[in-house]
Amino acid sequence: CGIVGYIGNKEAKDVILDGLKRLEYRGYDSAGMSLFNTRYQVYDVYKDQGRVDRLAESVQNSPASNIGIGHTRWATHGKVNKVNAHPHYSRSRRFIIVHNGVIENYHQLKEQYLQGVKFESDTDTEVIAQLIETFAGTLNVENAILTTLRLLRGSYALLILDQQNPEQFFAAKYKSPLLIGRGKEGVTVASDLMALIGYSEEYLPLEDKTFVVASRDRVQLYDINHQALNARFCQIDMNN
Ligand code: GLU
Repeated sequence: CGIVGYIGNKEAKDVILDGLKRLEYRGYDSAGMSLFNTRYQVYDVYKDQGRVDRLAESVQNSPASNIGIGHTRWATHGKVNKVNAHPHYSRSRRFIIVHNGVIENYHQLKEQYLQGVKFESDTDTEVIAQLIETFAGTLNVENAILTTLRLLRGSYALLILDQQNPEQFFAAKYKSPLLIGRGKEGVTVASDLMALIGYSEEYLPLEDKTFVVASRDRVQLYDINHQALNARFCQIDMNN
């Protein structure tokens, strides 16, 4: 239902919690986040059913992180519980994703590409994480994600973390809203402009089938065939 991702100079959990709170009015049943743990050099996942306030408590003592992704879930596939809350891991825990939308062909994709893979959740979303991991067996991360995106039917706004490339996150959009914001303090991606206000000086609503690689000081946009796109950001004017 709601998505916020951040990389920059600020404390990522603050930006993400603030954004998720501003999206609470849309309704949700669970909330979660992934943050980088500099001590162990891995992304940790915090999630449960319930309010964003509860998530705030569980990340309260997490180590400082300048990158993270967060989600509020409105369940479409799979019960409302902790396991089905986002973020979702792929099987080796290399990839971590949050997703808004519905993957209509998730059952077919499971049958065709993921025979024998043990799923942790009952969500349509987990299929995306598992497919990326499958394709990452032979492809680099960007091509593994793009190969996965080309198979998906339905709708998605997606943020993806890769434990092997921890200095960036990936985003993609089709038929679910996703906007990217830039400013002195870093890069923020969210499903609603409200979550970017105060963190970005300029923003760009993403077009369908856009794929984004976001690092601290760089945003690269591609189409679904990995062709670079030019980004035309709009100013966020706080006066009107
Ligand atoms: N279809 C996904 C799920 O049920 C995402 C729902 C959402 O957009 O929050 O977990």
